[in-house]
Amino acid sequence: MQLKTKILKSNTKNIVFASELLKNNKIVGIPTETVYGLGGRADNDYAIKKIFNIKKRPFNNPLILHYKNSECALNDIFYDDRAIELAKIFWPGALTIVSKIKNKHISKLATANLNTVAVRVPANKSIKKLLMQLDFPIAAPSANRYGKISPTSAKDVFEELNHKIPLILDGGRSSVGLESTIVDLSEKKVVVLRHGHVSSSDIEKVLNHKLEKFNNTKLFKAPGLSINHYQPDKPVRINALKQKSNEGWLAFGKIPSEFVKPSLSLSRKKCLKEAAKNLYKMLRVLDSKKISGIAVQKVPNKGIGIAINDRLYKASKKINER
Ligand code: AMP
Ligand code: MG
Repeated sequence: MQLKTKILKSNTKNIVFASELLKNNKIVGIPTETVYGLGGRADNDYAIKKIFNIKKRPFNNPLILHYKNSECALNDIFYDDRAIELAKIFWPGALTIVSKIKNKHISKLATANLNTVAVRVPANKSIKKLLMQLDFPIAAPSANRYGKISPTSAKDVFEELNHKIPLILDGGRSSVGLESTIVDLSEKKVVVLRHGHVSSSDIEKVLNHKLEKFNNTKLFKAPGLSINHYQPDKPVRINALKQKSNEGWLAFGKIPSEFVKPSLSLSRKKCLKEAAKNLYKMLRVLDSKKISGIAVQKVPNKGIGIAINDRLYKASKKINER
């Protein structure tokens, strides 16, 4: 029999229902402030294996673990003052910390058998309430098929994973709209493995020193940084100046009147936070149109614009370049 996927509002009753599913090793679509997650209990191999299988994600790509509070998250890792400082400022929020793992109950599949683990305390109310019902962290990658555009609404998750999971909790649009920043504290040198809402300079200010530039030898530690990510089905052309015939247009700022539909603006008032929130939603909308490709106007490469450009660059890689 085919699995029926329910979308339920993330009220108290349904959050309790979701917590029961998770306790029973089931996988649930969960709202977070970054993007929607495909959550399972982090201490259970069976549940974690299911997450990888549902997404068709390679097993060498470790998952981020979500905790109800900083104390629980820090308890599961070996940490020093750097983690304490970052947790104090950025948790709950869109920062993931990678550090050496301490908790022996975490599934080795979740960490891809590394001696490190990625931990985060989300700010979104729904996942927070859900975590409060549980005595284990939730491992949750984005709730999309591997390599595809991350979901920022319950409807996006349904489109991606209908029939594959029993429940999607609907907590509205993700407020940040991009995956978390990942900072690696497992070694002496602090490295940002993935850009996100929290910028490298935000981290530098808190730690009071300059960060190492990301270096490709770290790729094995952060396979999520590989090129084949965030892909619409249609080709994406970045830093575009004009729309070509039969292309959809994704603007940053106002859309000139001569541009034809479909054209959308990430932010008419050129607000980078608004652009981040709209990016995946608009890529999904344009991807569903009858067009030959998606042209995207240049987005300033500062603050969260760095994370937006990272996702757009990866989305723009042609299949033979991936
Ligand atoms: P996501 O794809 O959003 O689920 O984020 C998962 C990403 O976090 C992975 O692709 C890695 O880049 C990073 N990550 C997770 N666990 C670890 C770990 N133990 N060590 C280093 N990076 C990790
Ligand atoms: Mg993802």
